[in-house]
Amino acid sequence: AKSYGRSVLRYFEPKMESAMRTRRVLETELRLAIESDGFELNYQPVMDLEANRIVSFEALIRWPHPTMGPMRPDQFIPLAEETGLIVPIGEWVLREACKEAVRWSEDIGLAVNISPVQLRDRRLFQVIHNALKESGLAPERLELEITENALIAETDLTLGLLHQIRDLGVRIAMDDFGTGYSSINYLRKFPFDKIKIDRSFVTGSDQHSESTALVKMIASLGIGLGVRTTAEGVETCGEMESVRAAGCSEIQGYFLSKPITADAVMKLLAQDPQS
Ligand code: C2E
Ligand code: CA
Ligand code: CA
Ligand code: CA
Repeated sequence: AKSYGRSVLRYFEPKMESAMRTRRVLETELRLAIESDGFELNYQPVMDLEANRIVSFEALIRWPHPTMGPMRPDQFIPLAEETGLIVPIGEWVLREACKEAVRWSEDIGLAVNISPVQLRDRRLFQVIHNALKESGLAPERLELEITENALIAETDLTLGLLHQIRDLGVRIAMDDFGTGYSSINYLRKFPFDKIKIDRSFVTGSDQHSESTALVKMIASLGIGLGVRTTAEGVETCGEMESVRAAGCSEIQGYFLSKPITADAVMKLLAQDPQS
């Protein structure tokens, strides 16, 4: 057993070492990006299904990495969360997105993703307060998206923080609804204003009766609770019509638009005759 262990070690050590080196390099580069304004935000429109017009945009972070090219959030947010760097990154996202959103028409909302790690930090309230004040954005235009997994380590602190944020007039959405394991229970415990139905239920909802039934159930839940529901990841006209028939309030997804730059948002809003 001893020699087996040693041979395993010999085999894995160099690989592990290089993985750790890559991590360290990436972490250093993340720190550098924080200091040098190295991130960008894209914005994806959300359309109200009754009014048939754009009602808000979700800010999505992008990292134009100097050598590896554009990096998607999935490639660096987990590391940023492990290292705590998500706290300064998240603060930058809030400030930058609020600053951008004041340039839009006043009836257009802004959604910002908040990491579970940020939610465990009492200072988040001050960060939000400052971002609103500094930009002049009306609190009612801001919505924070929180995944239910953020609430697993549910504490009085988290609950208190969410109430404090809501007292400012800021709204809270439950992101990726249905993918965690206590979704419905969290709806009862936490003060949500919106449910975002995960893409996995929306994809093929016009073709598979199971998905159709689940989207219908979540939309009715929203109606019953008096909260809006957004169908995420709508890619086809068929999916849009099926989530509309299910009773969803709004849609987001490639069928409407991919995430776009801040400049493209300004052009889109200038074109849109209704806003
Ligand atoms: P999310 O909050 O669920 O955001 C939606 C993701 O789905 C985005 O990916 C978006 O580009 C993608 N998407 C939108 N419509 C469609 C569609 O029709 N089809 C498909 N296949 N995908 C669609 P993205 O931008 O890569 O972001 C991935 C995740 O990274 C986000 O998931 C969110 O959890 C996280 N994230 C993004 N920006 C931030 C941020 O500023 N802070 C934090 N903490 N997390 C962020
Ligand atoms: Ca900018
Ligand atoms: Ca989101
Ligand atoms: Ca989502």
